[in-house]
Parts: sequence; structure tokens; C-alpha cells
Amino acid sequence: MKANLVVLPGDGIGPEVTSSAVRVLQSIAKRGGHQFTFTEHPIGGCSIEKHGAALTEETLQACLASDAVLLGAVGGPKWDNPNAPVRPEQGLLAIRKGLGLYANLRPVRSHPALLDSSPVKPDRLAGVDMIVVRELTGGLYFGEPKGRTRDQSGERAVDSMVYHDYEIVRIVELAFRLAKSRRKKVSSVDKANVLETSRLWRQIASEIAVRNPGVAIEHMLVDTAAMRLITSPAMFDVIVTENTFGDILTDEASVLAGSMGMLPSASLGEKGPGLYEPIHGSAPDIAGRGIANPVGSILSAAMLLRYSLGLEQEALAIETATDRAVTDGCRTADLAGKLTTLEMTDAIIDRLSAKV
Ligand code: NAD
Repeated sequence: MKANLVVLPGDGIGPEVTSSAVRVLQSIAKRGGHQFTFTEHPIGGCSIEKHGAALTEETLQACLASDAVLLGAVGGPKWDNPNAPVRPEQGLLAIRKGLGLYANLRPVRSHPALLDSSPVKPDRLAGVDMIVVRELTGGLYFGEPKGRTRDQSGERAVDSMVYHDYEIVRIVELAFRLAKSRRKKVSSVDKANVLETSRLWRQIASEIAVRNPGVAIEHMLVDTAAMRLITSPAMFDVIVTENTFGDILTDEASVLAGSMGMLPSASLGEKGPGLYEPIHGSAPDIAGRGIANPVGSILSAAMLLRYSLGLEQEALAIETATDRAVTDGCRTADLAGKLTTLEMTDAIIDRLSAKV
């Protein structure tokens, strides 16, 4: 297969971890006889420095013309002023919008060798293997009206939670498709006892469940889901939820894996390239020291192979090699280990099977 991949390393540890993911992809390409081309473009703080904008039209066009996009992370203390007219995070929002990415997928697994690394008790973590599907372009973060007004009684702020039926249909259907190749269970998370948007969400999720009898559905209030993620996380297979709930629950779920550095994500649209990035930020406290954990970025590359290129065997090969490296005790500093980013990457490449 030939694939044109755009790499957006970004800021802080972004370049360190994306170069690891690229090395793993190159190694997989060699083993599987594929031809991947990689083109780098700036995003975030480094793009502001160079071009005065967090995402340039040139970068966006290159992404739109690609088969998939691999992103590092953006941001850092240099660009931290929340009132600055241009900020690195604008690059993330602009690229999600530009690529029409409405679904964010975050798999979370507990590795048996890392159960002690999570603040959650090991007996709760055994068997955790879930994927959280978060709606990414609707709800509270984008709804109108939004803003502040002032009158005699004082200042008033408003954000609006808005969902159209089609936005709910496409994300819940995606969750059901994913569940079919997993343990066949969807937990649809809402706040239907209070919110009208959630009542529409629950109604649509129930209708989709009727059309998918092979997959079990459970409706769960978001407050219950927040508690169950800690008390019984192994009960979840696919969680599907709206934007704000997903934003909060995905960060909560990330502690189950032991380190943020371990977790990948994929953002997908209806058509066009997907965007793949580790869930962590630019980690300015360790940037440039060569000690970042590259696993989140490497597993994001595996998701890229699976969802954008349809290379399931190759994706599995990377996931298996990463599992083996962790089982063998390979660890970076975030998991109390001594390996550098390069050494951890080598350990994973060494464990890739000779042929895929
Ligand atoms: P962060 O994820 O960058 O770091 C949190 C902590 O986790 C730090 O101690 C860091 O050293 C550690 N860490 C993160 N990834 C690691 C890895 N791969 N290996 C080892 N340790 C790792 O979050 P933060 O400190 O809140 O944010 C730093 C900057 O990143 C901010 O400017 C923030 O806006 C930005 N950010 C960007 C993204 C993104 O690009 N998607 C996401 C979150 C935060």
C-alpha cells in the first residue's frame, strides 16, 4: 500500500514522540512491503513563531490532501497567556474543524504489568479494556447563543448545549460499529433526568440499539458513569457520550492505564483523513530531555493503520510489540523506569514480528 502521511510534531515533547511513531511506521512499512511518505508541517506554538498563526492554510491543505495525520502536542509556557490573540490550542480546534472530525476515540486498557502504577486499586483494574467515543464538534463548546451580557442586576454568562439529531445518530452508530468487533456492549452516557439534549440522545441511542440486536446497550447517567469508571471500570466495553461529558470522562479514564504517556487517540470524520495523537500535552517540564514516553504516540500510529489505512494486522503487530515491551519491564521515567524515548522505541521495534 502507498500512503501519504502528514506529521505535525508541534511543541514540547511533540517532536520527540512523533519521531518515535514515525520510526515504528517506517519499520512496519518495511516489514509489510508498504510505501509510506511522511511530510512535516508546523502547528501550535512553533507555527505561531514562524507564521504568526497556530495553523496555516498550507498546513491545513496538506492535511486535507493526505491519507492521515499524525500529531504530537501543542502549547507551552511561552504561549500560556489566555488573553493572547493567537494561542497554540487554536491550531487544534481549527484542524478538527477543517478536517470535519466529529468523533474522538480513546481506547483505555490496563496492562497487567502496570496495575500498580495507577492510583486505582489493582483488583479493580484487572481486565479493563474499553474505548471511549466522544462527540467532538457539537454540544456546549460550540452551541449558540454563547457570551456575556451586563445589565443593572450585574453580569451574565451563557453557554448553550445544542445537539441536532444527525450529530447524535452518526456518533452512536459509530459506537455500535466499534462494539461489533469487540465485546458487543455500548454504554450510552447522558444526563437524561435533567437535560433535553440528553433525552434526545437517549431516544436516538435506543432506536439505534433496536436496529443492532447483536449489541447490548445500557443507558447510564454521567454521574453514575464517573463513579463506575473508578469502582468497576472493567464493566465497560464501548462508552459513547457527548462532547463535555466525554472531555471529562476521558481524562478520568486515563488514570486507569498508569500514565498519560501510554494512551493514544483517534479523531475521525465522515470522510477524509483522520487525526491521530497521544492524549497527553506538550509536557514542557520534560521537553528536550529525551525521556518522554513514546507509547501514546506509537499506539496512535497503530490506530492510524487500523482506521485510516485498513491495515489491521499491522496495527495489531504494533500493539502486541508494545505489550511485549511493557511485559518485559521496559519503562520510561513516568513509569519509574530508566529507558530514554529512543531506547523505549527501539525496544518496541525490536519486538515487532519479522513479517506482517
Ligand atoms: P501534559 O500532558 O503536557 O503533562 C502533564 C504531566 O504528565 C507532566 O508532568 C508531564 O511531564 C507528564 N507527561 C505527559 N506526557 C508524557 C509522556 N509522554 N511521557 C512522560 N511524561 C509525560 O499536560 P499539562 O502540563 O497540563 O500541559 C502542558 C502543555 O500542553 C500546556 O500548554 C497545555 O495547554 C498543552 N496541552 C496540549 C494538548 C494537545 O496538544 N492535545 C493536550 C493537553 C495539554
